Amino acid sequence: MTTVSQTLANLVHQRTGTRPLDCYQCGRCAAGCPQNVPGEMDISPTRIMRLLQGETAFPEKAVEYARQALTAETPWLCAGCQACTTRCPQGVDIAGAMDVLRQEGLKRRMTATTKRVRDIQALHRTFLNSALRHGRIHELFLVIGYKLRTGHLFQDAALGPAMMAKGKLHLLPGKSADTSRVKTAVERLKTP
Ligand code: SF4
Ligand code: SF4
Repeated sequence: MTTVSQTLANLVHQRTGTRPLDCYQCGRCAAGCPQNVPGEMDISPTRIMRLLQGETAFPEKAVEYARQALTAETPWLCAGCQACTTRCPQGVDIAGAMDVLRQEGLKRRMTATTKRVRDIQALHRTFLNSALRHGRIHELFLVIGYKLRTGHLFQDAALGPAMMAKGKLHLLPGKSADTSRVKTAVERLKTP
């Protein structure tokens, strides 16, 4: 059973310095979220905050509330634009909370399993691998890795030559000034 020290709300507090329990459900985060529209997020950011509150307030239902928050598509469809965090009158870092939900979902192997979320996770993993290997993002590595992981081999393929001609896709990765620091930061992200 989930204990108080392991609640998602506590993890959000530890990692963002702000408390989902301070949310008073005004709805401003959801109203300003560009991804909280039909066909995108399945649970609004406001509702996600409510689930985190419920997880703390009702220990007997904590596991179920945590499961609902972690398996929503919402954390993965969040674009990290910070509009919600900026608008929150209670100073809750909702965008930071979405980061925590993504990290915890992967750690606990409890995330949404829809095709689009799996594609986003494939991009997420390829992005981190590129940062680990090169100390920076190598666009061609990112594209190839994403396509191999998702099977979208020919999606947007026609754009490749034009991007190369404009210098947007480089055959060889550039060198990061401080690869080891980037690696340390990425490893910290992978093992929160
Ligand atoms: S950071 Fe995410 S949840 Fe917040 S407004 Fe932007 S897309 Fe929506
Ligand atoms: S804007 Fe802040 S207080 Fe309002 S619902 Fe969102 S998290 Fe809660």
